[in-house]
Amino acid sequence: MLHALVRTPAEPFSCARRLLHSAAAPLFKETGLYGFDHLKSAKGFQRMVDDAIERSNELVNYIAGMPSAPEIIRSMDEISDTVCTTIDSAELCRHTHPDREFVEEASRASLRLNEYLHGDLGYLYLDLKSRKGKHPICAHFAIKGGRRISETDYQLPIVALVCNFSGSNFASVHLHHSDVETLFHEFGHALHSLLSRTDYQHFSGTRVVLDFAETPSNLFEYYAWDYRVLRKFAKHNLTGDPIPEKLVQSLIGAKNMFAATELQRQVFYALIDQALHTMQPSSVKDTVSIVADLKREHTSWKYVEGTHWHTRFSHLVTYGAGYYSYLYAKCFAATIWQKMLQQDPLSPAAGSALRSKFLQHGGAKDPTVILNDLVGNCVVRKQNGGIIPDITSLGEEMQLFNSS
Ligand SMILES: [Zn+2]
Repeated sequence: MLHALVRTPAEPFSCARRLLHSAAAPLFKETGLYGFDHLKSAKGFQRMVDDAIERSNELVNYIAGMPSAPEIIRSMDEISDTVCTTIDSAELCRHTHPDREFVEEASRASLRLNEYLHGDLGYLYLDLKSRKGKHPICAHFAIKGGRRISETDYQLPIVALVCNFSGSNFASVHLHHSDVETLFHEFGHALHSLLSRTDYQHFSGTRVVLDFAETPSNLFEYYAWDYRVLRKFAKHNLTGDPIPEKLVQSLIGAKNMFAATELQRQVFYALIDQALHTMQPSSVKDTVSIVADLKREHTSWKYVEGTHWHTRFSHLVTYGAGYYSYLYAKCFAATIWQKMLQQDPLSPAAGSALRSKFLQHGGAKDPTVILNDLVGNCVVRKQNGGIIPDITSLGEEMQLFNSS
């Protein structure tokens, strides 16, 4: 299909004069602003930038495998043509259009193309190895949130991932599969921070409502269990052979063996969290008996007398009455994975949709709107005046439903 990438050669040009012939063109509803079909409405700038970036990437890949000089020059010219047409339209519109929506969309288009051309999305620091005296956690920290500084400039986010992986040195890194899963989880948080483009820092990346905060991280965990992804980097340390598919299947088998028990445990934790933060019993009750009662009522396991592990369960403090959001995230992530990524986890189109419809909004857009835009109205349900996740995808994945 490479021949399809080379279009009719364009004449030599510079960005500044690309629009001279059409700069004064009035807004024709039939043809779009400046004669561009996409610009029949202000939102068309988003599509125009998407197309320009996609086409430029195609051309760069094409050029990379191209020995012939005239073809390279033709392709380079088309990149400039594609990108500059969009930049010029956006700049002209920003400075001259009377409609506020057009001006705002044109500013956004300039901002995105600026970012595309200059390359940096943000800064990510990795401190992954355990060492003496280090805080024993695996976590994502937003050191500086992204924010819009001016109409065309953006403050790039700075993020750190701090983990405690053992048994590795930098010459030869050996991670357990559970470490890989953790790394993907934290990297999901990092991408949320790095790819969000919000006006204010307070809505940047992971600064979303708690019910939604763990969704990107849970979604990226799926990548750690997918053979098509693992074989790309998980290699034998001596032979360099990719991880055997059979081994991945048996890892998945071991995970599935206790999946329902694990889910029940998470429901139990969420119930404890809700009970301790919301119940107002008429008679005073100690936390040990509350936990013991919930365990008897909601799990398949007996409470072990004399134990009080929940006093060390720090999520009860840090997630106060919000631990259930991990379960919400599991449901949302399962739906997104099944609807968008399961068929091809490395699909550029799906990745681009994840970025533009989900991650880039940080906390600046209602999560239900984000989710519906992303995967349709199969992802949340209304119940008792509130909104809850649809459990269909997670249930199917875990084979919880009786097929008869
Ligand atoms: Zn997390």
